[in-house]
Amino acid sequence: PPPMSSNSARLDAIRAITTYKPEPADFNFHETSPMDVYSCNVFNDRVMRERLPRDVYKALQKTIRYGETLDPGIADTVAAVMKDWAIEHGATHYTHIFYPLNGQTAEKHDSLFTPDGMGGVIAEFSGSMLIRGEADGSSFPSGGLRSTFEARGYTAWDVTSPAYLQENPNGIILCIPTMFLSWKGVSLDKKTPMIRAGQALNREAKRVLGLFGVHTDLPIVAYAGLEQEYFLIDNNYTFARPDLLAAGRTLFGARPPKGQEFSDQYFGVIPQRVLSFMMEAERKLYKLGVPVQTRHNEVAPSQYEIAPLFEPANVAVDHNHQIMAVLRNTAKHYGLKCLLHEKPFNFINGSGKHLNYSIGNADLGTLFNPGDTPQSNAKFLIFCAAFIRAVHKYGGLLRATVASASNDHRLGANEAPPAIMSIFLGDQLTNVFEAFRSGHFEHADGGAKKSMNIGVDTLPPLPRDPGDRNRTSPVAFVGNRFEFRALGSSQSAADSITALNAMMADSLGFAADWLESMLKKGHSFNEALQSFVSHVIEEHSAVIFNGDGYSEAWHKEAVRRGLPDLRNTPEAMPELVKPEVIDLFERMHIMNRDELRAREEIYLGQYSKTIHTEAVLCVRMARTDIYPSGLRYQKELADTCVSLKNLNKDYRTDTLDRITADLRSLQTAADELEKLVEKAERFQGIPEKARNYCDSVLPAMDRLREAADRLETEVPGDLWSLPTYQEILFSK
Ligand code: ADP
Ligand code: MG
Repeated sequence: PPPMSSNSARLDAIRAITTYKPEPADFNFHETSPMDVYSCNVFNDRVMRERLPRDVYKALQKTIRYGETLDPGIADTVAAVMKDWAIEHGATHYTHIFYPLNGQTAEKHDSLFTPDGMGGVIAEFSGSMLIRGEADGSSFPSGGLRSTFEARGYTAWDVTSPAYLQENPNGIILCIPTMFLSWKGVSLDKKTPMIRAGQALNREAKRVLGLFGVHTDLPIVAYAGLEQEYFLIDNNYTFARPDLLAAGRTLFGARPPKGQEFSDQYFGVIPQRVLSFMMEAERKLYKLGVPVQTRHNEVAPSQYEIAPLFEPANVAVDHNHQIMAVLRNTAKHYGLKCLLHEKPFNFINGSGKHLNYSIGNADLGTLFNPGDTPQSNAKFLIFCAAFIRAVHKYGGLLRATVASASNDHRLGANEAPPAIMSIFLGDQLTNVFEAFRSGHFEHADGGAKKSMNIGVDTLPPLPRDPGDRNRTSPVAFVGNRFEFRALGSSQSAADSITALNAMMADSLGFAADWLESMLKKGHSFNEALQSFVSHVIEEHSAVIFNGDGYSEAWHKEAVRRGLPDLRNTPEAMPELVKPEVIDLFERMHIMNRDELRAREEIYLGQYSKTIHTEAVLCVRMARTDIYPSGLRYQKELADTCVSLKNLNKDYRTDTLDRITADLRSLQTAADELEKLVEKAERFQGIPEKARNYCDSVLPAMDRLREAADRLETEVPGDLWSLPTYQEILFSK
């Protein structure tokens, strides 16, 4: 047979796409409906009720539903039932799943079977194996929280997030969501602080509700609805692009003639191959009990979104991690590569993750919902005011939770919200709050200003919808929740939820103190409420901004208002260890100074390592891919000039001159970048090193890229070895 290889990975990739044939799906979609499989791989409430002894089920529910401490006496029974259920479904191994601080999902599998000493095996899974795992994990970054001689880390069962089965064609694994701690109880992961912050939120929210005479047996929880954006490209391209393979993003690539200018992607018809992929991914997620709901094309070519229904934040975060894993795995089945990087391609939009955040429980619904009655309106105003205060006071912290090397490429780049934390409330709601400051309420109908005492009873019905959708704001009120839009697509939402819960707990505690002291002084509830809301607006309205967050004017205005504009990760991370942030987390019993320091250190270290890898890759690709392509073209041009000259023909050297100049710039820029990386690596201090990568290495990468991208627009296609943006983004 004729050789398939053209000696060019790029051309092979293109050829492979034209002959792509889908493999059969993992499901028979015609025989099973989503209803048949929903949650079939989850140790869910139905399974527990059916299989656990009644008293054990009840005791476990107390922990799951009401947040009570787990009765360790029931662990053995739960473990035995869980084991039988898992083995009946084909499980051979179990694993504690956790989120170490390097941002990954970690798992270490252990067999459910042990030799019985008589030549066979028995299934073994005890209560203590369920509750606690010895993950060791001494290679995870701990930011000095754990010296290696006491390196053991422990995983601890998170009872509130259900165990589930992970399917592989060759076996099944029982997965148990866990926290990851040092043996002294120091949190080494992202889940532990999130759960602690949830407890703080419950405590303080209940205080406020108590003042309204509202009592509920269920804990108050944060809800999260996480919209997930991602790119899908043909997997063959990844093998022809070392940058996609190793960095998850393109480090080179000229602007494609056609990008997203036509707005013809957003909500467009989903290509068949992609739709097949989505359907399979959704079916797998359905089996895992992830309530996926919407799918659509996003703004950039080859960009898509998946969003499940909102759930209690802790479960929503676990489900989002599962969504990311399922997207990645299923893509391969369709010959696709799922890119979760925040900015895989220059010149077109990157990917984010929107965190729809609200507070409430099954009894009360969401507390960010303006109600029909004056009392529910009053509750709404308190919770909403508390949120405004929280974001104003701790905007820097919130900003830090979304900082990463990859997210730096999109925040503030006019495709995602700016890095300045502000809240979009909508004009109507803003007017309501402003009215508290002035004591004047401007009626929507007559427009006549009436001076009145704005208490609960005199409030007009509050707007349920903020009206216009403002996409340029990092935090937007959207009717019954706040949408935090600054998260990066690959990030765990756990850090942002931890911060939001902590901030809200602080603000609600502040509100409760305020109201309590007013009431104690003999004021009416109306007066107390009015004075609290007035206070918040007086002190914190600077954080409300309904205009265009992308505009230059807003950046100036924000500075004038004293809002922090933390443009990149090295600027943002120190927010984690500001005295008021340490105080917040310590007061709320979420994390102590050392735990926060460790996070700052680990995240900054991660930042430097990311840029280091990318920079080294840039230099290598420039020398082994781009320079040789240009050099071949240069030789062709030079040979032609010589031939023409020998024939006494007219010849011009301007193209040759240009290519020669570009090649020289490329070489110079590569050498310079290499030196700057060496210099950056010599920095000992973690913040100094990160700063150096940001200020000197990143710009040098841009300079190198400029020369390379210029060459791409000149060198003939058959000599260019890297798939172009046009090819990657528009062929599937
Ligand atoms: P859009 O793209 O218009 O923002 P989507 O439907 O894509 O809306 O996503 C909205 C997300 O917000 C969904 O995950 C949805 O379940 C979630 N959501 C709706 N109500 C709430 C709420 N009260 N609290 C938290 N999330 C919510
Ligand atoms: Mg959406």
